[in-house]
Order: sequence, then structure tokens, then C-alpha cells
Amino acid sequence: MTTDSTPVAADGPTGGHIIGGTHVNPANSSRRVLIDPATGLAFAEVAEAGASVVDQAVAAACAAFPTWSRLAPADRSSALLHLADRIEANSDRIAWVEAQNTGKPLAAAADEIPFALDNLRFFAGAARTMTAQAAGEYVAGYTSMLRREAIGVVAAIAPWNYPFMMAIWKVAPALAAGNTVVLKPAELTPQTALLLGEIANEVLPAGVVNVITGDGETVGAALVAHADVAVVTLTGDVSTGQAVAAAASATLTRTHLELGGKAPMLVFDDADPVRVASTAAMVGFGNTGQDCTSACRILTSSKNYADIVDAVVDAANGIVPSGPFSDGAIIGPLISETHRDRVAGFVTRAVADGAEVVAGGSAIDGPGWFYPPTVIVGAGQRSEIVQKEVFGPVVTIQLAEETDLPAMALDVQYSLAASVWTMDVSRAMRVARDLRVGTVWINDHFPLISEMPHGGSGMSGHGKDLSIASLESYTDLKHVVINLGE
Ligand code: NAD
Repeated sequence: MTTDSTPVAADGPTGGHIIGGTHVNPANSSRRVLIDPATGLAFAEVAEAGASVVDQAVAAACAAFPTWSRLAPADRSSALLHLADRIEANSDRIAWVEAQNTGKPLAAAADEIPFALDNLRFFAGAARTMTAQAAGEYVAGYTSMLRREAIGVVAAIAPWNYPFMMAIWKVAPALAAGNTVVLKPAELTPQTALLLGEIANEVLPAGVVNVITGDGETVGAALVAHADVAVVTLTGDVSTGQAVAAAASATLTRTHLELGGKAPMLVFDDADPVRVASTAAMVGFGNTGQDCTSACRILTSSKNYADIVDAVVDAANGIVPSGPFSDGAIIGPLISETHRDRVAGFVTRAVADGAEVVAGGSAIDGPGWFYPPTVIVGAGQRSEIVQKEVFGPVVTIQLAEETDLPAMALDVQYSLAASVWTMDVSRAMRVARDLRVGTVWINDHFPLISEMPHGGSGMSGHGKDLSIASLESYTDLKHVVINLGE
């Protein structure tokens, strides 16, 4: 681990929830101390919302809904483009605050902002494209028309791995469609969501974006159960998705769930092991493996197996986790001590289960919650390390017959993403067709595109982020029938 040479600090958010265009900071509310994952030291405090703050935020979003939803699409679009410009102007500050809160390298935090801006600008444009089927007479004497309409208040519940970008993925399509939002960031990483709320206050009408902070099981659950929330959009763990879906069933609130993944790389004999290994290092260990599409399972045929193990081990050994402000930082710490211990537990149990650690494999002594890139071989298909999302810098490499690769890829509970590595176009297309996952990359792993949907099925959830599909998922169709008086 290298030492930090912290560049000039940026100011964090100025404090309190953001509701109805102002800061709300009840004197009697309990507070959460935020811990810097790279040092283990406290660096800020945020308020925990009580039931009355949740009510206030939902009421503010309800009050803003009629005006925002009835704005001409062109006006909503320009408001969102203005928001994007103000975010861009604040991007250095957002990146710094994100790096401090998450521990990710400052350069990585800064790299996420252009894509988040592209997402937001895409949805600003998409606000003007909302259409429904053309009108017509489907029964004699009546004209039917379809209206695609905003639904109401969207509760957006975000995770801690890409706090700012995930907030944009939720908030942008919901607003573009004409909804108003109550955003609840993850309790560990609320800072850039609060900055987003502060910037939104400068350019959007009061109450269109509200941000409240607090725990999932209290504040998040209260939002999900709120009778005036029309849609709950969550990015989080499978177990959180299950809790949200169960709670939302009481009010039949619509849910949009982006949950876990266990993305495999299927490497056929004709793949280039060097490219496979360099991609695996980037997307298996990038963001310290805290990524739902992380390439955490390499499934490879015998011709490539030894080369790939060697190359991935070399790559793993070449990455030294360091603090977010260290020169040349590639990956940072894990998000919390609890999560570091969870990741370490997976590796310990994998070894007890007969697998072999060939790189990394034990937590780095503190301060901070550092865990090294870790490579595991010899794990069985049914073992925990292959079946469960670790959400850390841990990659398994499994040897298999080429014909078994697709079945092994699908033999987990998740259906989020996969990549196929082969120079045979027909095989690539066949395997892409047969993999029941939300995204298949061919000879790459990870590119995400604003115009294209991202999201899984099965235990990876339902609903799509990004793309027009996401915009539509925050709308309802209304059938209007006109009696022609004939
Ligand atoms: P998490 O499930 O612990 O928390 C996510 C959010 O849900 C947080 O804001 C949390 O406070 C809230 N929450 C927790 N319990 C709740 C409840 N009962 N009711 C309402 N809200 C509740 O997830 P995390 O640890 O922050 O993020 C990591 C997870 O997110 C991983 O499983 C990862 O795969 C997943 N993820 C998925 C995608 C995707 O697009 N599919 C993207 C990023 C992360």
C-alpha cells in the first residue's frame, strides 16, 4: 500500500436532507458518522431521516409533480441539460468528494462523471421522444388514443459502489419522463447524492429532486412502504431486492430492481489469452471488484487455461491497492470493514472447500479496508465462491470443455451479464443467443452505452437502466376513448 499525497480537498455537501428546495436538518435527528475506507477514520456526519422527514420529502415530491409532469417536454429537456451543465462545472468537486467517501482512486471517480453526464444528456433528449401508438378506430364509432404519462413520485434507492453515477441512472430517466424523485443514497456513501441535490436545487423547481439520507432498513423501508410513492427503483443486493419487492407488494407499488451479478467470461480455444487476461484484470479487479458486472468468473478451455492463469496472476500481483489520492492509484480499499471481512470470509471458505489461491488471498494490514486482487483456481462449479456474488477483487478461473462453457456460465442464480471470447463469429452469435442474461459482450467485457439497456432477469432483478427502455419504465400508458357521435 502506498501513502497518500492528498490533493487540495473539495467541500462536501453543506448539510442536511434536501427537501422542497431547502436543506432540512432536524436538531433532534440521529446522525451517522462516515468513515473514510482508506484510513478507517471518521471524516463527516450525516443526518438519519426519521419518519417525519420521509413524509416531508414525499410530500414535497408530490407537490412538485403536477407542474413538472405538465411541463412541455422541450422545457423539461432544457432543465435537465442545464442540470448536466452545472454538474459538469462541479465535476472536480464531485469527483473529489466521491473519492474520499468511497476510497476509489480520484482518477476513477473523475472518469465516471463524463459517462454520468452522457447518461443525463441522453435522457434530457429522450424526454422529447416519448410516444405511444398512433390513434385509430379499433371499434366502430370510437377513436382510441394512447398517452404515455409520468406516474408520480419515484423513490430512488442507490448503492455505494458508484454512488453518483447510480443516482443519475435512477434520477435522470424518472425526471425525463415527468416524475418527481426522492433519492435515498446508500448510508455509507451519501455525499455525492447530497451534492446532486444541491446542484439540482439551483436549476430545477423546488421538490422535483429531494434527497434524504439514512439506513436502508429504516429510511429505505419507510420510503418503499409510503402510500404516495408510485415507483421504487433500487440498485442493490438480491436480498434487498427481495425485501423491497415483498414490502412493495402491500401497496402493489411498481418496482424496478437492478440486483447482483456473477458475470462470466467464456473463453474458447481460439481466444487471445493476452487480451482476455488484460481485460480480466481491468474488469475483475477494477473498482476493487465492487461492480455488478465484474468479470469475476473466467471459464476457459484447456488450450488457454495455463496462459490465462499466468497472465491474470501477473496482472493481480501488479496491482497494489492504495488510497484514493495516491499517485497512480489503480484500485482503492473495499467500502467498509464489514465488507472487507465478508470478502475475506468468502476466500477463506473457498480454500477450506478445496480451492487454491494463486494470487492475493488475505487482507492487507490496516489502516483502511484494503484487500488485494485475488485469483482462485480449482473451485468446483457448485462451490460458494463460484455461486455467490463476492463483490470484491476476487476472480475464479475454471477449466472446462468448450462445449460446457455456456451451461457453466448459466449455472448460477444471477442473469445480469457475460462475455464471449472467440474469433468464430458464428459461435459468438450462437452463444450470445443462448445466454439468458441482460448483456452479452463479444471479445470485450464492460462497455455500457447510454442508448442501450442495462439490467438482468431472474435473481438479478427486473427493469432496465439506461436507454429508452428505462425511460418507459417510469411511465404508464393511458387509453383515452373518444365517442365520435356518429
Ligand atoms: P444494498 O442492497 O446493501 O443497498 C442498496 C440500497 O438499498 C442502499 O441505499 C440501502 O440503504 C438500501 N436498502 C437496504 N435495505 C433496504 C430495505 N429493506 N428497504 C429499502 N432500501 C433498503 O446494496 P449495496 O451493498 O449498496 O450495493 C451492492 C449491490 O448492488 C451488489 O449486490 C451489486 O451487485 C448491486 N448492484 C447492481 C447493479 C445493477 O445494475 N444490476 C449495479 C450496481 C450494484
